[in-house]
Amino acid sequence: MIPLIVASRNQKKVDELQAILAGTSIKAMTLTDLPGAPDVIEDGSTFEENAVKKAVAIALWSGKLALADDSGLCVDALDGAPGVYSARFAGKNQDDAKNCEKLLNALDNVPDNKRGAAFVCVIAIAAPDGRVVGTSRGEYRGLIARDAKGGWGFGYDPVFIDPQSGKRFAELAPEVKNRISHRAKALGKAGDILAAYALGLPAGNL
Ligand code: IMP
Repeated sequence: MIPLIVASRNQKKVDELQAILAGTSIKAMTLTDLPGAPDVIEDGSTFEENAVKKAVAIALWSGKLALADDSGLCVDALDGAPGVYSARFAGKNQDDAKNCEKLLNALDNVPDNKRGAAFVCVIAIAAPDGRVVGTSRGEYRGLIARDAKGGWGFGYDPVFIDPQSGKRFAELAPEVKNRISHRAKALGKAGDILAAYALGLPAGNL
């Protein structure tokens, strides 16, 4: 088995990835299984930079294959903001509700046909020697609503309208959102990169 360190303490993320990796020789584990991991500061200007920085740091620290992700919301009318600053859009010590409120205020005068946005997730995979094996990117486009609604999910889910169902991401059951989301798309492609790596084939960016 090839161990894969996922740069996260979220067991659900790892379970999702392991399901995608079923049938390969890769065994994913969280940082919880490896105490003392370095805290990597996400100070890059792109999702790719942050994901690569985290994956390389964890690979070099652990001496094992590592995977890291970075994600956020890019709003058309705000030239792609909040982007890599999504988690701290309303300030360092603010929460999801404040971030949503700030976004709704920023788009107050933006008409319905200009409220497009995309959730973006980038995953990077680094080999035990710190070499970048590949990166994958998943995007999910939708619209920013005029108010917050729904109790599921996190982050900007209450203000993000899924055009397929007409519902907010926060109104979709987690198993539905997790099947279609930006993260699911990036994870699926990361699964392809990892399957190639396990077979000793060149991978690259997807
Ligand atoms: P990170 O990838 O954990 O750094 O997430 C960055 C931020 O992007 C989160 O704190 C959320 O504000 C936002 N975000 C990323 N993915 C989602 C999502 O699926 N739903 C809602 N917000 C998200």
